[in-house]
Amino acid sequence: MVTHVASEHFDVLIVGAGISGVGSAYHLLNQRPGATFAIFESYETFGGTWHMHRYPGVRSDSDLYTFGYRFKPWTGTPIATAAEIRKYMEAVIEENDLARHIRYRHRVEGASWSTAAARWTVTVRDLAADTTFEVTAGFLWMCQGYYKHSRGFTPEWPGMDSYRGTVVHPQTWPEDLDYHGKRVLVIGSGATSATLVPAMAPDCEHITVLQRSPTYFAVGRNVNDVADMLRLLEIDETWIHEIVRRKILFDQKMITDMCVTHPDLVKEQLFEGIKAHLPEGYPIDPHFTPSYRPWQQRIAFVPDGDLFEGIKSGKAEMVTDEIESFTETGVVTKGGTVIDADIVITATGFHLSILGDIPFDLDGEPLDWASTVTYRGMMFTGVPNLAWVFGYFRASWTLRVDLMGDFICRLLAHMDDKNARTVVPQLRPEDADMTIREWIDPENFNPNYLLRSQHLMPRSGTKPEWQHTQDYWVEKRELPEADLDDGCLAYS
Ligand SMILES: Cc1cc2nc3c(=O)[nH]c(=O)nc-3n(C[C@H](O)[C@H](O)[C@H](O)COP(=O)(O)OP(=O)(O)OC[C@H]3O[C@@H](n4cnc5c(N)ncnc54)[C@H](O)[C@@H]3O)c2cc1C
Repeated sequence: MVTHVASEHFDVLIVGAGISGVGSAYHLLNQRPGATFAIFESYETFGGTWHMHRYPGVRSDSDLYTFGYRFKPWTGTPIATAAEIRKYMEAVIEENDLARHIRYRHRVEGASWSTAAARWTVTVRDLAADTTFEVTAGFLWMCQGYYKHSRGFTPEWPGMDSYRGTVVHPQTWPEDLDYHGKRVLVIGSGATSATLVPAMAPDCEHITVLQRSPTYFAVGRNVNDVADMLRLLEIDETWIHEIVRRKILFDQKMITDMCVTHPDLVKEQLFEGIKAHLPEGYPIDPHFTPSYRPWQQRIAFVPDGDLFEGIKSGKAEMVTDEIESFTETGVVTKGGTVIDADIVITATGFHLSILGDIPFDLDGEPLDWASTVTYRGMMFTGVPNLAWVFGYFRASWTLRVDLMGDFICRLLAHMDDKNARTVVPQLRPEDADMTIREWIDPENFNPNYLLRSQHLMPRSGTKPEWQHTQDYWVEKRELPEADLDDGCLAYS
């Protein structure tokens, strides 16, 4: 391995070429046309989540009118496969000539801020050549996602070592996994499981979903009637995209509000949707009745009720119970159910990754993210010239990519106006007594991967400036108008 120092400097360095990195590059290109920038991406191609997840049936559970960018019309069915999302991203890259800015197989391995130089020195590994080098950047636009890409989360259960079958995590799906005619056990019932099960069921001998706690499922058709009607009228796709986005976001706002004001009504509606697809008399309780309120965790969308078709046909089965232990041939639950399986799929979630687990330092002092407070869920107190694109969980992630794109470009322009080279969030004197708390209030949103690692995340305050509100509808109004001179941001 050879280490050499490169002398390249970029005004902005984007880390990651997933949906966030590509969208951010688009905004930079269009709103800061003179800026020099590069995207460094570990994988050999773009797509991030949609490149690395290879399990059967992998698809979005958001509609692509809102998961797609605001600037690039979506013309397919609302729910899209990973391949369709990659194709859409490919078109964005091509149409905007972004490929020349992306360096694939380049992993960012460290970032060091120098106050004297007012820039980041970034250590990069060229994975193809197995060399490391350094570049400098005025601003780091972090689009590396929010979970560890290398491996998913699998709990340790007693007796796992004795199991003689194959254990697979959906995040690292073996290309050659043959499940034809096999008995499959899927542990977990979130969005991944809801995708996997209908895709695998026709080919398996039998598939069992074992869940410790149920998930809310929303059943709907994978069509958008408004889009279809507008297409029939030969309306321009740009218009259709905008109109359909507005309609979907309007509807989602009503549902989100109802989840707070009338959670029981929303629950009933969700249950009714499921019942319509289940066999006559199939028990909703306990398999489909979570203990939390709708939207305290993401609701898994089931297009055309496909998940329930397997249950109807007898190919798929739900078990709601906890694992007591693994055996040589499967698992035994605490309730005494024995489930034998040739393959066990642990759809048990992620490891949260804070800023990609990249070591950062400020003038040689290692940076502990948990000691910072977030500015609007994108920047961090004491950390200069850096933003992390962290999208929405309840609405499509990408809605925030666009909003943040506008915000960061406005901020960079503001720095130019002020002749400033550094911007750093800081608590104001009036924030001194503000309660500092976790990144997200578990009462508001509480998936397990977040609860497991919240202590490592930046903190938040009680005022909107110091939170990731997770509220698209509020941010859409507030972010474009946010006062960049309200004292939360210090310039020099
Ligand atoms: C299976 C699945 C389905 C999902 N479905 C939806 C959905 O329907 N709707 C929704 O809103 N959200 C969904 N999500 C959440 C989803 O991850 C985000 O919406 C979105 O794709 C995240 O995009 P991203 O670009 O921020 O991060 P990622 O997709 O994680 O991409 C990050 C990129 O950064 C690269 N990278 C990371 N670290 C480094 C480094 N140190 N150096 C260089 N490159 C690096 C990675 O290789 C990767 O390519 C889903 C997540 C999963 C796992």
